[in-house]
Amino acid sequence: MDLPQWSSNTWDSGSVFDILEKSFKTIQLKSYDGTTVHVNKALLVFFSKYYRAALTRNFSEANKNIFDVELSGEHLKLFTTWLHSGKIEEPVAPKGVCVCETYVRLYIFAEQTEILALRRKVIGYLASAPLPKYDTVALILANQPESSPLRKHVLRSYINHWTPEGDTEDNYLESVERDTEGVLPGFMYKLLVGVANREEVDPKRCACCHRQCRYHEHESTEEVNENSRLFKDTDEDE
Ligand SMILES: [Zn+2]
Ligand SMILES: [Zn+2]
Repeated sequence: MDLPQWSSNTWDSGSVFDILEKSFKTIQLKSYDGTTVHVNKALLVFFSKYYRAALTRNFSEANKNIFDVELSGEHLKLFTTWLHSGKIEEPVAPKGVCVCETYVRLYIFAEQTEILALRRKVIGYLASAPLPKYDTVALILANQPESSPLRKHVLRSYINHWTPEGDTEDNYLESVERDTEGVLPGFMYKLLVGVANREEVDPKRCACCHRQCRYHEHESTEEVNENSRLFKDTDEDE
């Protein structure tokens, strides 16, 4: 089967089943708190440019069978489930903790390991989740470069959907005290400028929730066309 070159950029059952049918070899991934999982090697190599380089070239790593990953055991299991099923199970967050934090940790991992399909999936979840709490915003800003689509998405979501009432449940000043990298004040400044300039937001058409292709890092217009059908983007520009 000839797949378009961008087929690994989005999780798709056709290509995944095709790989799983042909290849049974697994490798182990180990979380920083000691959980080990087996994943299909060919599948990992298909989605991750990082593991593709590490496992298929002539590096000393190519024969390694176990890799340490910067994820907790719980998040590693969510990653493994996503790799084989394309779905991220809804994270269980303790009361007061933001569900988005789990998605953000998976996104950061997907950036380190160069898995675009997982980054896109996370954007999809965040587009339909409530606004991430300030602690999660700080996590994003401290770990993502200026050009990161996730950074742009969280700022756009705040500009479009933030209201002062939301802050009664999520205390900005308390988060600032925990923000050791000092990233939140800059975000707040951009937010306030954005809110001051925002026109009325139509919740059925806002870019953050309905034009996800903007955050998908597409390689070509051909791919956008293919993808906007998949993601049901309504796509004229603002
Ligand atoms: Zn929105
Ligand atoms: Zn897209």
